[in-house]
Amino acid sequence: MDPSNEKALIFHRNNTAIRIIAPILCVEQLLYALLLSPPESIFQQLYFSTSALLMIITILSYTIKSADSFPVSWMHEYYSLGILLLGMGIALVRILAHEGVLYGIPTIYLAILYGGAVVLIVPYYQSALLYGGISVAAVLLVPSNNKVVPDIPIRADLMINGLIAWVVSAMNYRNFRRLNASARLIAQKNRELQNLSQRDWLTGLYNRRRVDFQLEQIHRYASIILLDLDHFKQINDSYGHHRGDEVLKEISQLLETHIGEDDLCSRWGGEEFLILSSQPGEPLAEQLRSSIASSSFSNGLTLTASFGVVSCNEASDQEALLITVDRRLYQAKELGRNRVVSQATDLSRRQG
Ligand code: GH3
Ligand code: MG
Ligand code: MG
Repeated sequence: MDPSNEKALIFHRNNTAIRIIAPILCVEQLLYALLLSPPESIFQQLYFSTSALLMIITILSYTIKSADSFPVSWMHEYYSLGILLLGMGIALVRILAHEGVLYGIPTIYLAILYGGAVVLIVPYYQSALLYGGISVAAVLLVPSNNKVVPDIPIRADLMINGLIAWVVSAMNYRNFRRLNASARLIAQKNRELQNLSQRDWLTGLYNRRRVDFQLEQIHRYASIILLDLDHFKQINDSYGHHRGDEVLKEISQLLETHIGEDDLCSRWGGEEFLILSSQPGEPLAEQLRSSIASSSFSNGLTLTASFGVVSCNEASDQEALLITVDRRLYQAKELGRNRVVSQATDLSRRQG
């Protein structure tokens, strides 16, 4: 799995969770401060500060752009960890503030501990740092005479909860990675399948299925070139089908090296090729014709090709364009092969 991509995904997922949770907790803390705490008590101040901090986190989470649009730096890697740590810090302060009032771990502490472990995706080393650190801090800070139940110190409870949360977090991260890996594999296989379904097996050029799709966006192109190899059957008959195949592959490579970057070259049928070009078709077709005629293929075979060309502005629909280009290719054959016909030729008039 591409590591930078995984980091971006984790960042994006975590920020989405923070966007949802932070504002809810912000309002909750504000209500606690306003409705449930004794006025001007330390608790009210605590709730107000927590609410303000959560407000800042909310704003931050909404102003941060999606990680897809920038490289994920170490700051983004530690973003959710920092926020989780902050939440736990707040919860810890609350334990201290409750000293002598409550004898157990406050719900908010456990909520943040386990909520974070379940909701946020934190890499192994980060979660070890986080839950180990928070447990040690809790043990050092919380007075040991607090008892959850008689004889079990709150310290032990804090440590065991930190440990369980760490295990939950690690399992969560492992599941995330597994799911992610299979999703990527499926996406990659889909791309390969799609590519296979659009390619001609012999030449590797696009096949007719792909061209049919592309023809629906014919407005993106300036011209259509249809070419057919001349007397190709003779090559098969004289040198065998295998040499014929070799010629077809080499012709395909030649076509691909000559067409423009935005052009699309396809195997339209047996020894017929169709090119969608964003350039005017006649100069390109002429270039291809002379290049084929002057090259040798499959160790010394020479051959020529005939071309029909149509400008995409000559007709409004693809059907009419295809009929026209096919007719012009036929005319090129009739006129003696090894040539380009790009306009309504006189052939029909001559014939008619
Ligand atoms: P023309 O100049 O009129 O186009 O003559 P031609 O011989 O090229 O035309 P025709 O349509 O009579 O024959 C096309 C030949 O192309 C026949 C067929 O065996 C050959 N062909 C079609 N597909 C393949 C292929 O995949 N491999 C090989 N080796 N030959 C193929
Ligand atoms: Mg032919
Ligand atoms: Mg043919």
